[in-house]
Formats: sequence, C-alpha cells, structure tokens
Amino acid sequence: MARPQYESWVREILRCPVGGHPLLDVVDDHGAPALQCAEDCDGTGRRRRYPVTDGIPVLLADDAVVVTV
Ligand SMILES: [Zn+2]
Repeated sequence: MARPQYESWVREILRCPVGGHPLLDVVDDHGAPALQCAEDCDGTGRRRRYPVTDGIPVLLADDAVVVTV
C-alpha cells in the first residue's frame, strides 16, 4: 500500500488529539499506514496509534490503539 502523501502544511498541523504530540508516520501490524504519537501518551513507553483510512488520518481517541514502544 502506498504511503499517504500530505501537503506539508497539513502534515505539520496534525497532532495527537489526546496529548497534543507531533505524529510519526508508521506502518501498523497489518501493514497499513498509521500515525503514531512521537512522545509518550498514556504512560511511559505507551503511545497512541491512529489509523489512516483511505489516505485520511482518523485522529479520534476512540479509534486509536495504544501501543508500547
Ligand atoms: Zn498522544
């Protein structure tokens, strides 16, 4: 699957809605693109990962998965 491409200004304003962190482009366990908190979000080493559906980042806390890094 191709990585989503955003206009740079769009990419810069995307933030974790829970902690306000910058987001990193990652690939989830299923090989799908996702955006992940660049900083700890839910305790030490725990970060939220937001799905990217059809190229659209879904920055909803309810849809996020908490991963351990
Ligand atoms: Zn966060």
